[in-house]
Amino acid sequence: ILKVSNLEKTYSSGSKKLTVLKDISFTVEEKETFAIVGPSGSGKTTLLGLCAGLDQPDHGAIELCGEEMDSLSEDERAILRNKKVGFVFQDFQLLPTLTALENVAVPLELLGAKNAEKAGKEWLEKVGLGDRLHHYPSQLSGGEQQRVALARAFSNDPEILFADEPTGNLDAETGEKVEKLLFELNTETGTTLVIVTHDIELAQKTGHILRLKGGKIIENTLTSQ
Ligand code: ATP
Repeated sequence: ILKVSNLEKTYSSGSKKLTVLKDISFTVEEKETFAIVGPSGSGKTTLLGLCAGLDQPDHGAIELCGEEMDSLSEDERAILRNKKVGFVFQDFQLLPTLTALENVAVPLELLGAKNAEKAGKEWLEKVGLGDRLHHYPSQLSGGEQQRVALARAFSNDPEILFADEPTGNLDAETGEKVEKLLFELNTETGTTLVIVTHDIELAQKTGHILRLKGGKIIENTLTSQ
């Protein structure tokens, strides 16, 4: 479902150039749970952004959901993301002026869903927030906000879900609950899951670990999960 070949990415600021990803090749199979791990600054978030077509590599190719990313226009990449890709971020990225329900239902509505509100309610009930539908993000705890983000991400039935440090802003206990919910929803929906994390315990719960260091792959292993 995701095929990355010989990827390279360099950032330049003024005359300075920094190669943050070099010769990156790997494949994520459909329905796999896949973790990208590595120290801070090793290029994990950059790699995720490239895979999702949010940024362009300097060299190499990415095939996502059967589409060659560099053959698509920016608009076509956005359509692919909207239709087939879900995102969960470390800082939740809910819209602060919308309620929990609106955060889930409005994107569905924009994508043309007919029963967006009903579906939004059902998803929030599924993540245990049936009694928080009309709360704004500022009125929710971090764990609750991430549950809303999970409901939003899964409600669109994505083929692949990218989660960037999904438990990074949560305390250990809350993080574990969110993690459990993420895996449960993933199993239930059959979505492919790609998690960026520095949490080795979380990575070991996935089926496949890709380890980066200094922008290069130093490990690519299937786990026993
Ligand atoms: P962390 O775990 O701390 O989030 P990471 O492994 O996700 O780190 P990236 O965020 O991908 O690493 O960053 C890799 C390197 O690229 C870092 O040295 C960072 O400073 C640099 N970098 C990231 N984005 C940009 C940018 N837009 N312009 C210039 N340099 C950047």
